[in-house]
Amino acid sequence: MDKTLLSGFRDADLIQTRVNEIKKIITRPWVIMEICGGQTHAIMKYGLEQILPSEVEFIHGPGCPVCVTSLELVDKAVQIASQPNVIFTSYGDMLRVPGSSQDLFAVRANGGDVRVVYSPLDAVKIAINNPEKEVVFFAIGFETTAPANAMAVLQAHALGLNNFSILVSHVCVPPAMRAILSSPSNRVQAFLAAGHVCAVMGYWEYPPIAAEFHIPIVVTGFEPLDIIEGVYRTIVQLEKGEHKVENAYSRVVTFEGNRAAQAVIKQVFEICDRKWRGIGTIPASGWKLKQEWAKYDADNRFDVKAINPLESPLCIAGQILQGMKKPFECPAFGTICTPENPLGATMVSSEGACAAYYQYSLNR
Ligand code: SF4
Repeated sequence: MDKTLLSGFRDADLIQTRVNEIKKIITRPWVIMEICGGQTHAIMKYGLEQILPSEVEFIHGPGCPVCVTSLELVDKAVQIASQPNVIFTSYGDMLRVPGSSQDLFAVRANGGDVRVVYSPLDAVKIAINNPEKEVVFFAIGFETTAPANAMAVLQAHALGLNNFSILVSHVCVPPAMRAILSSPSNRVQAFLAAGHVCAVMGYWEYPPIAAEFHIPIVVTGFEPLDIIEGVYRTIVQLEKGEHKVENAYSRVVTFEGNRAAQAVIKQVFEICDRKWRGIGTIPASGWKLKQEWAKYDADNRFDVKAINPLESPLCIAGQILQGMKKPFECPAFGTICTPENPLGATMVSSEGACAAYYQYSLNR
């Protein structure tokens, strides 16, 4: 993105002006959940909670794909990657996510061929260049990464590759929002929706949620001014007792979203129940490969069914991801759980709430 354009969204005077407007209209405490871990990191990095009136409380949502990939699937990835004829490929963050007994880094240290890639299409190239090996890509993520993962399957098919598969852990935002709002312990009074997810999916899925739960939802970007604007619009609605869906990220997001990307997702994936790490199974909250693409499903290709996942009993990441607790309420935070020695995925990921608190607030 253009540097000048970006600097406008970090302009301290513009941000302060909007903060002053929030101060003028706010009359009572409000709890706002930013769904995306990227927004959590921006809030912590730029100290936005500190410049907003104390009535605004952020709680942090489950929008970190690395954090919510189920322990069973991490263990499954570890087992597949440990097999001798496999090249296991993944985004870098996933290598340090703790499984029940080890992570993918440990597999690599023990001689496994585990490689970091920046795109699933890189994994397809590795499969082309290594026809004697099974090449597996760890296809994690929300709606944002699904189009590229679907494209990788289509490309492998077009190339006639028989040695490429993906281990799928796709999750979807709207069912998670519904699950959080339906919980008896819900504290969320408004959502900042994740701008990049909406760039792909649009925001046509959100008006029924806003109407059913009487909750404002504002599609929000990732720069400081984007987030302050999202907060401003939610506070205006909350103070007026409204519950609409608004788009505060219109330079990127349209109501319909990217129809071509949605079509590719629909061609390759279908909706399934999905287990979220620390949260449990949310009905119809994920995507799996359609039956016609089953030969590209690593889950079918490798016999790794006997998995008994064992989470650290100290880790409260599930409660953090649902907005019930903050990272500093975890007794392990910053002591026995650090980015160098993480007990849970939220301390690993560049979008994890515990990592954000550790990086930006421990010294504050
Ligand atoms: S600080 Fe570590 S142990 Fe505590 S919730 Fe976060 S990831 Fe889990």
